[in-house]
Amino acid sequence: MAIVINLAYIVASILFIFGIKMMGQASSARQGNRLSAGGMLIAVVATLIHQQVFDSWLWIAAGLLLGGGIGAIAAQRVEMTGMPELVALFNGFGGLASLFVGWAEYQHAFDAGETVDLFTAAVVFLAVLIGGITFTGSIYAWGKLSGRVSGSPILFPGQKIFNGSIMAIIVALGIAFAFDPTIYLVFIVGVGLALLLGILGVMPIGGGDMPVVVSLLNSFSGLAASAAGFVIQNNVLVVAGCLVGASGLILTIIMCKAMNRTLANVLFGGFGAAVSGGTAVEGEMKAASIDDAYFVLEAARNVVFVPGYGMAVAQAQHVVKELGQILEDNGAEVRYVVHPVAGRMPGHMNVLLAEADVPYEQLVEMEDVNPTINQVDVAIVIGANDVVNPAALTDESSPIYGMPIINVHEARTVYALKRGRGRGFSGIVNALFFSENTRMLFGDAKQTIGDLVAHFKE
Ligand code: NDP
Repeated sequence: MAIVINLAYIVASILFIFGIKMMGQASSARQGNRLSAGGMLIAVVATLIHQQVFDSWLWIAAGLLLGGGIGAIAAQRVEMTGMPELVALFNGFGGLASLFVGWAEYQHAFDAGETVDLFTAAVVFLAVLIGGITFTGSIYAWGKLSGRVSGSPILFPGQKIFNGSIMAIIVALGIAFAFDPTIYLVFIVGVGLALLLGILGVMPIGGGDMPVVVSLLNSFSGLAASAAGFVIQNNVLVVAGCLVGASGLILTIIMCKAMNRTLANVLFGGFGAAVSGGTAVEGEMKAASIDDAYFVLEAARNVVFVPGYGMAVAQAQHVVKELGQILEDNGAEVRYVVHPVAGRMPGHMNVLLAEADVPYEQLVEMEDVNPTINQVDVAIVIGANDVVNPAALTDESSPIYGMPIINVHEARTVYALKRGRGRGFSGIVNALFFSENTRMLFGDAKQTIGDLVAHFKE
């Protein structure tokens, strides 16, 4: 029986790995998701058989129904703009689950007066520590993302030393607990401080950086699950936890690189507290009418759409696809250029465009378009701001200097769609909107594109 169970675990692990690999490409992502979910089903069934927990089937069924029900309803109801919040919440619950697994195992041994060996005590403490930080950190990140608490970074003098000291105390408690797990108070104080550290760690980070934090906490939730796997000696939990831990960390690094910031800058830099630096932009924004834009687009032979966070806010993806189709039928080559950090989470724009059935082959990477962008007749910037700000290339004093951008300012004509003169996520003025070849189409992006579509149809 043990061999069959372990074989099932190996199959599940292989499915996880192939699933994650397939999620690297838009065309195979859905299938990858299904494959990983299938792997998880095998792992759960094998564990249920292995542990012979049928006596507690009522508890298990109740947990499955409750958890599955909440998950299904939440996933169905969530708006695309609310996706990072949902991920944060789910992460938090993952951390809490690991905390409970570690705690329950310890409590069980403590109540029975059993001795806990050094390794078990160490992994129990790790599961509880990382799970606790993940739980409160994720819930706080969820609050910041959803606007339930202020998104501004909260900074106070000596903050890093204070947080560092708490961490040092936790480590000391962890060592004490591992060597002598009989003192219950050490454990409880460790749990309390871990929960506190989750909040303290997220406090100095601005709301806009929460997706990076969520990705890092996602990695933590994997490590916590892995530690919980060691506690209950479940191989597949150890493997799945490590996979989540590693992929979350890789994603965090990718996001930081795409913003040209270090992880330390995201975690401790207080980005978004106050914007300083950057050369003042001169000139004025020139507004255009729908009529003007229609005539230019009518004649255009090479058009790129550059979506940003504003497209998600406006939910404009379906009308954007409609306009793209019209332009294509009109003889233009149409492409969609997606910046890796456009929006508020990795792949945000790809998901929206996929939802609107934009063909995958029309989605192009920034590196592929930039070298020949001067041959583009019209670039339509839909609620994107920072990811097309030329200051990132030219202004060394700018907070976003060095961040790779889509060079739309080199296109022949740029139409920038936004509601007003507001700034982007980084809070700095965008010189693109003031340049000679840019015309502003003010208003909600869905409305503006809808008006253009209507004009073409007339
Ligand atoms: P920005 O947040 O820089 O800009 C969004 C723009 O959309 C604003 O100029 C806003 O202008 C406009 N907008 C908002 N609502 C609408 C609407 N309904 N219709 C039309 N326009 C609208 O977005 P980008 O996508 O360019 O940049 C993303 C930023 O987020 C980057 O700075 C990135 O580093 C950061 N970030 C991204 C992460 C990711 O994983 N993707 C993670 C962490 C940070 P107005 O208010 O005038 O309408």
